[in-house]
Amino acid sequence: MIVILGGGPAGRLASIRLASAGKQVTLIERGGIGGQCLHSGCMPVCALNDVARLVHSARELRDLGIVDAVPAPDFPVLLSRMGEIQQKIASILDEETRSFGVDIIYGKTGRLSGRVAYAGDEQLPAEAVIVSTGSRPFIPEIPGVGLPGVFTSRTLPDMKKLPAKMVIIGGSVVAAEFAYIFSTFGCDVTILSRSTFLKDTDKHIKALAIKELAGATIRENTPVTAIGGKDRVTSVQTPEGQLEADAVFLAAGLVPNTGSLEGLKKGLLGEIIVDNRMRTSVKDVYACGDVAGPPYLTPVARHQGIVAADNILGIPRTMDYKNIPRSINLTHELAYCINKSEGMGSVAVPGPAGPGTFWSVPTGETGLSKVIFEPETGKLRGICAAGPGGGLVAGYMAFLMKRHFSVHDFEEFIEVHPSTDGVYGLAKYASSMLKKRSSP
Ligand SMILES: Cc1cc2nc3c(=O)[nH]c(=O)nc-3n(C[C@H](O)[C@H](O)[C@H](O)COP(=O)(O)OP(=O)(O)OC[C@H]3O[C@@H](n4cnc5c(N)ncnc54)[C@H](O)[C@@H]3O)c2cc1C
Repeated sequence: MIVILGGGPAGRLASIRLASAGKQVTLIERGGIGGQCLHSGCMPVCALNDVARLVHSARELRDLGIVDAVPAPDFPVLLSRMGEIQQKIASILDEETRSFGVDIIYGKTGRLSGRVAYAGDEQLPAEAVIVSTGSRPFIPEIPGVGLPGVFTSRTLPDMKKLPAKMVIIGGSVVAAEFAYIFSTFGCDVTILSRSTFLKDTDKHIKALAIKELAGATIRENTPVTAIGGKDRVTSVQTPEGQLEADAVFLAAGLVPNTGSLEGLKKGLLGEIIVDNRMRTSVKDVYACGDVAGPPYLTPVARHQGIVAADNILGIPRTMDYKNIPRSINLTHELAYCINKSEGMGSVAVPGPAGPGTFWSVPTGETGLSKVIFEPETGKLRGICAAGPGGGLVAGYMAFLMKRHFSVHDFEEFIEVHPSTDGVYGLAKYASSMLKKRSSP
């Protein structure tokens, strides 16, 4: 039997791979199948952002005199409908996973001691174990952090009404995404980022994110020293002064869930140390997904699950962390994949008018397209695709970068029209520019 601890994207994909290959697989999930991605991460952000974009779009059309009103979301109904759909998706995932022959044990905490796995107190005989217990929001040690009115992505369903003034602590993608949602819903939102907001993000993407977050205040290099309030949050303290707030949202990063895992070598973030085949320090024990440390991304977790499963099946396979696409979901999908930017050539333009951006032409909020390439060979080294469908473009472009495509390969590219993908056009332009430069 192969035992898998945790049924998020990593563990679920690993379980399906192993069961499809004929292995007997037991998956232990203490909460809901689908993990953080479905219950408190990617899917809730999608759900809330869809509504925020609808409101944003209605506002744009109202300002042009095309529609006469902007809808106001009913927040409790939104959360309750969102919960129903999450449960529906969970039941589909459950059915799909079982259909491959995976046994699922719900409601028990999976534990590991060395190479011995347990479901609660019951020891399970296992020829191999996969640890995929994921991560949870990091709770910074700030006085007042336990007050009612302080939320994380996990406790969001407890928010009974929209706050008037919200402080978001953190400078990450998650901070930006929730700031967009709540500011678009009409809350007065302030982001307090201890260091640089959206650090390590392409400068054009960051500038666009700040533009799309015009409804929120962003303060960089502003640590929070205390959260104030008697029975619930009323203020947030920073070295520069106090801010009024009736809600605080913590978006200060994620920490791996390793509390029930003993005997495995762990790193500085508490993550399980793995090699590029997802093998841990203990023989026949593998770890994949967020529990193995950053990048905390569903597609990475899924892929790591497949890599772990294949290695258990005797198919040698390694993880490759180059060319991983990412996205920040605001008015648009601000998607990008940067392999290298230093010393490279680049071209960037505003996103084209098309489906989803036509009515944004007057405000100039059409997103952006960017291509980064090696100046001598034209080899693609990065792209930004910020606009409707930007995530799709970035995923496929990241794949082409992995396959060593150059801007010259786009000379034969024929697009679908109308579309808001400006990347192919920039690649063609970069190709002609490089050819002109190299011709005598
Ligand atoms: C707000 C937010 C937004 C995000 N948005 C995106 C996004 O847009 N795109 C993206 O790619 N990623 C996003 N992520 C990250 C993504 O959710 C994670 O990378 C992904 O869920 C990791 O999958 P996993 O299987 O490793 O872990 P998880 O999804 O955390 O799943 C782990 C599972 O293990 C279970 N478990 C934990 N401990 C035990 C135990 N001892 N015994 C049994 N079961 C256990 C948990 O209940 C859970 O179901 C977001 C995260 C957050 C918080």
